[in-house]
Amino acid sequence: MNTGMDKPLLIGRFAEKPLYYLPRSMPGLGFIAAGVIDRGTNVVQVRPTTLCPMNCAFCSVDAGPLSSRRHAEYFMDLEALLEAFNQVASVKTAMVEALIDTVGEGLTYPYIYSLIKSLKKHPRVKSVALETHGAPLSKQVINKLWEAGLDRVNLSLDTFNREKAKMLYGLESYDPARVAELAEYMVKETSIDLHVTPLWLPGLNDQDIEDVLNWALKIGAGKKWPPTTVQKFNVHRHGRNRLGVKQVSWSEFYKWLEKLERKIGARLRWDMNEWGMTYDRRIPILYRRGELVGAMIVAEGWLKGEFLGVTLHGEPRLITLIREKSVAAIGRKYIAKIVENKDGIYVGKIVGEA
Ligand code: SF4
Repeated sequence: MNTGMDKPLLIGRFAEKPLYYLPRSMPGLGFIAAGVIDRGTNVVQVRPTTLCPMNCAFCSVDAGPLSSRRHAEYFMDLEALLEAFNQVASVKTAMVEALIDTVGEGLTYPYIYSLIKSLKKHPRVKSVALETHGAPLSKQVINKLWEAGLDRVNLSLDTFNREKAKMLYGLESYDPARVAELAEYMVKETSIDLHVTPLWLPGLNDQDIEDVLNWALKIGAGKKWPPTTVQKFNVHRHGRNRLGVKQVSWSEFYKWLEKLERKIGARLRWDMNEWGMTYDRRIPILYRRGELVGAMIVAEGWLKGEFLGVTLHGEPRLITLIREKSVAAIGRKYIAKIVENKDGIYVGKIVGEA
């Protein structure tokens, strides 16, 4: 490459797919799967890794070793991530929550503790939170997360039934009782708050959801933030629905939630205020839809049919490039037409060579 950037390093393979390390000189903005995302609020998404050891039958991002749509996986350089975070956090007027919410499992990031420590030290940060399904947790991991300064864990726990869990998560070793015990340890022995977020799979875990919520309330989740919410299952274009779960409408979902709130005697819906969340300034969107940009392909793309590129002019951004009819090559420069730019996540269709 002659862009003054180091190229992504192929550091291994994960379930036959290339695993790339995106180095320090790569931009940390513009890509849905890795880096930092600014959605115009004071909650800034931080995505250091795409890896996940689980194989959830309902995964909205088709993660894990049995993924059929993914083409490559990535780790982001810590400094590049922090620089991108600083760029976003610096434009906010309110204090910021750094939310580590990956398209995989955040705890697979080798520098997760350093990342949390550095985010926590940032002068614009009021809290650091991490989303997890809990498989990589242990007492030692929890203690290190606490030492690093983590404020909250958002834990997706969808059932206590071990057999059902195996079917749902596709991971033989996953034991929901173990995860529950560790979550309880976290609430009682550390200052990390717990927010429990089961996913309702209609017809599959209706009673389990109730059990999980009652448990979360009983152990003292929600020391500072709301204790529980229920996630709605949606069928995603690039996700999985191996068990053929029925997607209910939002009105059915809210009716079901209201009934459940009455039954368990606790709230399950919260407004932005209660989360300390506000709309806020955002970093500029650099490219409009329909605009032509020059970009170089630097690695295989996240999903099949995609490439990962870096824009060539002005402030660099990562960009997902699609070439529909013929092949494209890593290291080559192309002209792409922007087809997506929502929240500064860029997708371009290759229309010619640069
Ligand atoms: S739902 Fe989460 S934990 Fe399960 S496979 Fe997808 S990313 Fe991994």
